[in-house]
Amino acid sequence: MRTIEDLTRKNIRDLAPYKCARDEFQGEARIYLDANESPFNAPYDRYPDPLQKDLKKKISALKKVRESQIMLGVGSDEPIDLIERIFCEPRIDNIVSIAPSYGMYSVEASVNDIEFREVFLDENFAMNADKMLAATDSHTTVMFICSPNNPTGNIIEKTEILRLLNEWDGIVVIDEAYIDFAPEGSSWLTVLDQYEKLIVLQTFSKAWAMAGIRCGMAFANEPIIQLMNKVKYPYNMNQLTQEYVSRQLDKKEEKEEWVKLTISERERVKTELMKQSNVSFVYPSDANFLLVKMDDAKGTYLRLIDEGIIVRNRSNVRLCEGCLRITIGTKEENDELLKAL
Ligand code: PMP
Repeated sequence: MRTIEDLTRKNIRDLAPYKCARDEFQGEARIYLDANESPFNAPYDRYPDPLQKDLKKKISALKKVRESQIMLGVGSDEPIDLIERIFCEPRIDNIVSIAPSYGMYSVEASVNDIEFREVFLDENFAMNADKMLAATDSHTTVMFICSPNNPTGNIIEKTEILRLLNEWDGIVVIDEAYIDFAPEGSSWLTVLDQYEKLIVLQTFSKAWAMAGIRCGMAFANEPIIQLMNKVKYPYNMNQLTQEYVSRQLDKKEEKEEWVKLTISERERVKTELMKQSNVSFVYPSDANFLLVKMDDAKGTYLRLIDEGIIVRNRSNVRLCEGCLRITIGTKEENDELLKAL
């Protein structure tokens, strides 16, 4: 049974992290002359809080986890990269991931020179834990499971994920970027305390509608969060982003309204699409997009571009042959899409 320490690259275990001025003095003072900052243009003359303590307080209350179980990144793309750099020794360790899935897991693996093993879902986009386990060997340190999965849109079966958490001794990452659009009770955050090697990723880019300011969340128990904090850039999250997210978190009702609207539009667009003669299937979705199988997906994609409407052509992706991935927009945007189709 491997421990977190066993799974961590030796250079990361031995790493003495960079100590910034804000790490060395954390009290309140009258005059700060310790960080070579400018004294002009307050408050943006100062470096931001490296550990985003105020923002984490709010996120901790919202997500019902300890502040020490949160790492904030520049989008959830940042923790994806960190996880691979912390737990995968280049050219030695490997990663197992469901496929098709979010492209950054494998891109970061390539950047970091890590073998990436794809385990394809079945034709209903279900994951089989046995197939995932069969793809591992003693050098597999990380597994990626995206749920709801991008681009297939479905939640991954709970019992299969549980088997991996209970039977496998590596790091299990569950990417919940689209979790707010899924039925309540679908998130794995509630069992965080029970699994020391579980990492749950979420983001403010989707349901919270803040993709432009780049803020993602990784949730895990303290030993993993401490490793991530040690490796991340000291000031990874800028002051404007911390402030903006913090303000938006006070408008939870507005976000919930957006989610409700998106879900009802998702179901309406799905029903309308299924009536169209060139659409052969619309996959069930727990996310803010639909995967649509249609005749001449590529041609349709190009015709939509001519109409000024961009969707994602996924027809070259294995298991998504003939499919377009269509994000749910406003009611007016969706109407225009349906009309153009
Ligand atoms: N995970 C999944 C499954 C995604 O689809 C995306 C964005 N498309 C991300 C993570 C990254 O999102 P962000 O970096 O904006 O948090």
